[in-house]
Amino acid sequence: SRKKIVAGNWKMNLNLFEGKQLVADVLQKSLSLAEGTEVVIAPPFTQLELAATQLKDTPGYLLGAQNCHQEASGAYTGEVSAAMLKSVGVTYVILGHSERRQYFGEDETLLAKKVNAALANDLKVIFCVGEPLEVRDANGQNELVHQQIVGGLFHLDLAQFKNVVIAYEPVWAIGTGRTASTEQAQEMHAYIRSVIADKYGAETAEDTSILYGGSCKPSNAAELFACPDVDGGLIGGASLVAADFAGIIEAS
Ligand code: 13P
Repeated sequence: SRKKIVAGNWKMNLNLFEGKQLVADVLQKSLSLAEGTEVVIAPPFTQLELAATQLKDTPGYLLGAQNCHQEASGAYTGEVSAAMLKSVGVTYVILGHSERRQYFGEDETLLAKKVNAALANDLKVIFCVGEPLEVRDANGQNELVHQQIVGGLFHLDLAQFKNVVIAYEPVWAIGTGRTASTEQAQEMHAYIRSVIADKYGAETAEDTSILYGGSCKPSNAAELFACPDVDGGLIGGASLVAADFAGIIEAS
């Protein structure tokens, strides 16, 4: 059976000291995780090593990174490789976030290379997909999400794909306070699972965790996570407040 995952994507927020406090405050709550549930904390690169030491003795709490470079090493000033992430204790790397696509021009060809670099270094990938508002308004969301999945992931063989988690984040729901309805989320998650089943088979599709992201809060997490094809969440703003992130973990 597939894992439930609640992942906090801090984005470019908090300095070292604020971040240390936040991790400490979350751990302090000593939440009991259901069997097969993982909590992932994805702080900025500068926080990773410290967060790794904070999380290492708490089962079920894993470290994530928000990006990696596609090349193994070399003259790429300002970039961070998958091997570097692995060496500080990272388990998951978020790739294909809509902010990376929009502000940093990351397209499917580049993302496929980043996915390869991550998997080659034994990282698991949280691969984000999702449509902007104008695509949703034109009812083109399935077609676009299909393209994103095919372009970024479907070059992988089955063994590689087993290390991929998908996050559906409708762009119009990110940081807007406007959440997808449970019907919209369930419909898209079921569609994504069918796309995976067509390529990798029903069993792999059943075992793939598909997270929802976009204005997820303690007040809406339980109903979203109760959808049969929603296996947890990728949390932005609410992951920056210990009580909110804990509330979402408790809803999982
Ligand atoms: P918010 O939870 O702030 O809407 O962000 C969602 C997100 O982009 C997580 O990756």
